[in-house]
Amino acid sequence: MSEERLFSADEERLIDEAFQHLLDSYIQSVHRKKTDIITKAFNFARKAHNGIRRHSGEPYIMHPLAVAQIVCSEMGLGSTSICSALLHDVVEDTDYTIEDIKNVFGPKIAQIVDGLTKIAGGIFGEKASAQAENFKKLLLTMNDDIRVILIKIADRLHNMRTLDSMQPRKQYKIAGETLYLYAPLAYRLGLNKIKSELEDLSFKYEHPVEFKDIQDKLSFSQSERNEMYRKFTSPIIEKLDSMGIKYSIKGRLKSPYSIWKKMNRNSLTFEEIFDILAVRIVFDPPEPSKEKSECFDIYLALTGIYKSHPDRLRDWITRPKANGYQALHSTFMSNEGRWVEVQIRSRRMDEIAEQGIAAHWKYKDTGHDYQEDETELGHWLETIKEILEDPQPDSMDFLDSIKLNLYSSEIFIFTPKGELRTMPQGSTVLDFAFTIHTFMGTNCIGAKVNHKLEAINYELKSGDQVEVLTSKSQKISPEWLNFATTAKARAKIKQWLRKNNRESEKFGEALLHEFANNERIELTPQNLNRLCKLHGMENASALMVAIGQKKVVLGEEERDILKGGGSSWYKRFWSSLYKSSPSDGKKAGQPDADIPNVKNKLIISDMESHVYSFATCCNPVPGDPVLGFIEEGGHITIHKLKCETATRLKAANGNRILQVEWNIGNSIFPASIYMKGLDNIGTLGKVTDVISKKMNVNMTRLVIESKEGVFEGTISVMVHSLMDLKAIQEGLKKIPGITTVVRKEE
Ligand code: MN
Repeated sequence: MSEERLFSADEERLIDEAFQHLLDSYIQSVHRKKTDIITKAFNFARKAHNGIRRHSGEPYIMHPLAVAQIVCSEMGLGSTSICSALLHDVVEDTDYTIEDIKNVFGPKIAQIVDGLTKIAGGIFGEKASAQAENFKKLLLTMNDDIRVILIKIADRLHNMRTLDSMQPRKQYKIAGETLYLYAPLAYRLGLNKIKSELEDLSFKYEHPVEFKDIQDKLSFSQSERNEMYRKFTSPIIEKLDSMGIKYSIKGRLKSPYSIWKKMNRNSLTFEEIFDILAVRIVFDPPEPSKEKSECFDIYLALTGIYKSHPDRLRDWITRPKANGYQALHSTFMSNEGRWVEVQIRSRRMDEIAEQGIAAHWKYKDTGHDYQEDETELGHWLETIKEILEDPQPDSMDFLDSIKLNLYSSEIFIFTPKGELRTMPQGSTVLDFAFTIHTFMGTNCIGAKVNHKLEAINYELKSGDQVEVLTSKSQKISPEWLNFATTAKARAKIKQWLRKNNRESEKFGEALLHEFANNERIELTPQNLNRLCKLHGMENASALMVAIGQKKVVLGEEERDILKGGGSSWYKRFWSSLYKSSPSDGKKAGQPDADIPNVKNKLIISDMESHVYSFATCCNPVPGDPVLGFIEEGGHITIHKLKCETATRLKAANGNRILQVEWNIGNSIFPASIYMKGLDNIGTLGKVTDVISKKMNVNMTRLVIESKEGVFEGTISVMVHSLMDLKAIQEGLKKIPGITTVVRKEE
């Protein structure tokens, strides 16, 4: 191409080198050698993005090149995907249209680029208001061609790898969204390696201090682990060599994110996590038909060397996970007395484990016919499609339903005819009824589980045989939502309840209008909002339903509220946030008011406030990194950054997040500390000593349980700051016999 070059010679060379690397990787892959069209796509994209730079300052084209490289080397996809990756930002960011792409590259690539363009808007833009909406679009394109999603994940992976150049506020939001949606999606599509990289990168930006801490500890204990690995594997290597097996063996470190998750979930310290190191054996069977038997041969050989843990044999060989993962996992006792996990899998299984469904197709040898994929993945896609087709008014519900379906271990249930169904763990009779047929679900009264009568909320176990019992007079009630755990069942129940609610709502509206007429009150949005607040209703329609169902009875209290009037605190609050005159904009506090991005920070100078309150899910304490979430009425809830609810809210409503800073004087608030140790005489006395010696701290509760010489306890205290809390923790750690002291995250 003889285009005018707008970058420096060094930069142009960098671009050429990156493209050459991509071509080399492609040529080494199993795909047909369609280098012409890849070169054409590269030249097209290079010309389209010529002169444009990324936030980081590098030429823009380096981004599509990197995405194409991921698609090729890390996902194992072919030329169509590589071309689409190279072209993925052309329509979004330049003057070229989908028509242009179609004319040059044909309909298939154009369709994929179109899918990628449709979901591009907003995810990184300023107007990123409803990520849920975007994610919905993303999943909808899955029906067209799943390569759209795979490339989108590659795009997100590269953006996460280069997140350093974004502003911290954006980093935080993008990282949250990645952890909440993209990592689970990657997992569900079998991209296990990419999933864990996405998690680690998100973790690094969301909790930089904890991330660094774990990384430091990992590198500190490296040599000790190497020694342990060497000792553990040398008899294994000797044995497998003598059997004439072709294999490779390597140590595998648990990722920083999964270490952190385990520490939090089980209140463990880094030192207490014993399975940081796992050993992986990847073998090449002499012929494909020997794959399974060789796997078990290796396992048997290992049992001759080490004792295996009776409860920790995981056979995903004969029954793969729904995302296609296959391997045999087992845990053995090393000669040093530590449990070590060993993962055994063939080269083919290994590739599927890392590259997901892309590798599936490669081995299936059937070309690219994804639509007729008869696997569990196909069923999953179908469920997602059903959820998408249900017009859910609440985006949060939607995200939760999807998430429910992304992560979950599976159980196997038999129908009366002996057919096998895969269900998420925790599924109930009701869930199972809905998977059979909607009618079975809506009319379910119970089931015969292994020929025994059980209720609709009975939790199923793997291997159960279930015969659903129905009755035409059965009627869905809201309580059913407590018994249904699968996305499909919940969606169907909600759909039915909504339909039912619409009738109540109409009735409620009529009652309210009658009341307002009698009392000569005007039903303005402000007035409706006051009523909603009074009864803790999310919105006006929930209020109408409650009135319609006589759960709310209109009377004196309502009349006082509506006739009282006056300017509310949140109006004042909003106008203080927007420096512009409050009268020229939208009225604040309206239920459906568009809440613009708030540039100002919220400073917390008081523990008691009408403007904000502290979330009870995570109980933040001054000093904790926190964020504010602007609720519908304008009220602000303060969550810890690492609170799960906060992560959820952030993923769905990024622009309602407020930066929050502590500036607290003399208030106190509650916190809990969990501790564990040996039950020595006097330990308890020392514990109370530590706490009472700290001025400013009040112990409100102490629960100690002791069993077989080990005690566990929780101390509830009132503290002034995180510093106070840390000081107590440090003091407790110094007591002889106490092994664990952690703050309890409720
Ligand atoms: Mn991109």
